[in-house]
Amino acid sequence: MHTVLYGLTPRQQEDRASFTAFVDDHLVPEADRWDREQRLSDSIVELLGKSRLLVPTLPTEAGGSGMDVETYGLLSEELGRGCGNIRNLVAVQGMVAHALLKWGTKEQADRWVPRIGTGETVGAFALTEPEAGSDARNGSMTAERTGAGFVLNGRKKWMSFGQRAGIFLVFARLEGEPAAFVVERGTDGFRTEPISGLLGLRASELAELTFDGCVVPESHLISRGRLTFDLLATGSLDYGRYSTAYGSVGLAQACLTASLEYTRERTQFGVPLRDHQLVRRMLTDMISSVEGARLLCRQAGVLRARNHKDAIRQTLIAKYVASRAGFAAANDAVQLHGANGIGPDFPVQRHLRDAKVQEIIEGTSQIQQLQIAEMTL
Ligand SMILES: Cc1cc2nc3c(=O)[nH]c(=O)nc-3n(C[C@H](O)[C@H](O)[C@H](O)COP(=O)(O)OP(=O)(O)OC[C@H]3O[C@@H](n4cnc5c(N)ncnc54)[C@H](O)[C@@H]3O)c2cc1C
Repeated sequence: MHTVLYGLTPRQQEDRASFTAFVDDHLVPEADRWDREQRLSDSIVELLGKSRLLVPTLPTEAGGSGMDVETYGLLSEELGRGCGNIRNLVAVQGMVAHALLKWGTKEQADRWVPRIGTGETVGAFALTEPEAGSDARNGSMTAERTGAGFVLNGRKKWMSFGQRAGIFLVFARLEGEPAAFVVERGTDGFRTEPISGLLGLRASELAELTFDGCVVPESHLISRGRLTFDLLATGSLDYGRYSTAYGSVGLAQACLTASLEYTRERTQFGVPLRDHQLVRRMLTDMISSVEGARLLCRQAGVLRARNHKDAIRQTLIAKYVASRAGFAAANDAVQLHGANGIGPDFPVQRHLRDAKVQEIIEGTSQIQQLQIAEMTL
């Protein structure tokens, strides 16, 4: 059952129902397996591409479906309810494709964006380095001009879908300034190594990237100068943050639904678990934090749709609150499931592991505390 979300158009309500059906059919039955195997199936990536759900916010001619930003939030919630890895895949594809569309030349956009939108190839966003995470602006990867274009040297770490991607949007320092390049898999001097054994988002196919005298042609330079970090990188992270915020609501909703069902079915001391007052308190905390976080996401979505000047701050607030609500809800859901909560038969343990990651990606909770205070003050 969907909760009421005020102000949705009839079309948005229909879309929301179709996302629910898609997630129930294709994600919910497979998400635990993908988590165990630490890999998504190729078929789901193909299906998302064919359904124009990989980067739905792109125009149709660029491989999307022209989806409005509010509806994209609803999609992110549903994907997050079913599988955090798919939600992350869709976020990263959007980050890379929109950056190329907005900052690349027409030729660059025509060359790479539709391939990402349709799922012909997967994109990866390569900002974080082994020694520069929250302080990504001070990364040490370099690019230098050569006769043939640019030579890249350095390492990047924790790239979602870096194991699968064919196109990497890579940030480096060029003559002391930030710059962004496209590097294609198979380029000499560029290699990827899988990172496995993660706590959460285990099927996000993370990789570490090494660039060792990797030469890319001039045509692969997307942007250079201060705005490369101040607008391109931060704009991409803002897009990802909106998805993470809504996805955390979806995760929390999945935990709430599972907990309502479990505490109705399971009896201890002669009554269903949910008839114990302390259990009800936990359920109430989950119910109210899910609904509150959802409204913050909705507010961020409405402001984003209007290009409102407060949209970025509201998105930060939504992500900060929703990711914490997601972790708290998943923690309580595991508790309410008792031993079953940590066993393999219930997805709440996957949600708990995935929820922790939402407090780290697209800016940690601490960085968001700093940013929200700074923007508000
Ligand atoms: C599953 C997963 C997927 C990812 N995917 C991508 C991707 O696709 N592309 C990409 O570029 N990166 C990706 N990342 C990296 C992610 O963006 C970074 O992990 C994140 O920015 C934090 O950086 P860090 O891990 O180096 O932590 P650090 O920056 O080292 O922080 C460690 C701790 O110190 C705290 N801290 C740091 N600075 C401050 C401060 N000024 N004040 C208070 N506390 C502070 C942090 O909050 C954190 O708790 C991914 C990470 C994960 C886990």
